[in-house]
Amino acid sequence: MATNDTRPPAMFLAGDPSLDFLNSIGTPVDKVVEWLADGQDLMSWLEQAGLVPPEAAATIRANCLPGELDAVAAQARVLREWFRSFVLAHRSHSLTRHSLHELEPLNRILERDDAYGAIVARSVDAAAAGSAASALEWRTLRRWRTPDSLLLPIAHAIANFLTSEDLSRVKSCEKSPCTLFFLDRTRGLARRWCSMTVCGNRAKQALFRARLKRRQRSAHRSKKTKAS
Ligand SMILES: [Zn+2]
Repeated sequence: MATNDTRPPAMFLAGDPSLDFLNSIGTPVDKVVEWLADGQDLMSWLEQAGLVPPEAAATIRANCLPGELDAVAAQARVLREWFRSFVLAHRSHSLTRHSLHELEPLNRILERDDAYGAIVARSVDAAAAGSAASALEWRTLRRWRTPDSLLLPIAHAIANFLTSEDLSRVKSCEKSPCTLFFLDRTRGLARRWCSMTVCGNRAKQALFRARLKRRQRSAHRSKKTKAS
């Protein structure tokens, strides 16, 4: 991010990293904000999302030409808009094997993966919690050989989402003009806003103001009737 950046911080409130990725462009207040405008943006977003380990990010930053990262950011934006139209087309029904051919663009990215497995030390937190049976764990790691490997954790998040979540739970925030998506995990599908603190409160304030205006108007009207 540039130092004169006036954008608000990127939003991570969708309840799933793949939907947070969709929200990397959006209208949280009144104008459209693009959080993946260039390569530096993409790196920063991936790090905030926890999708690229800091050491890998440092290596990629050190080894890439600026134009290379910008080109990957452009590919990420294409992937994002492909995913957005897929979600919008499919959120009213569950996916079947007939949707498979539509997922080819995603599978083409996934097949480039250079992932490998390794036994590593379990994170200090998990070990300290005492819940783990072993101090070691089996983890999938990735060789970040080329800049376009930055698309892989995003593609994984999307693949994971499409195969494990119910698309009918994807909603858009009800507070206009907010355009953010989220996954409604409540039992009665009751979640209405991207975030209670942002849009939920704004919606409540708007409702309160509308009620107040209505009350003032009817008080004014009854005063007029009494006077006549
Ligand atoms: Zn919202």
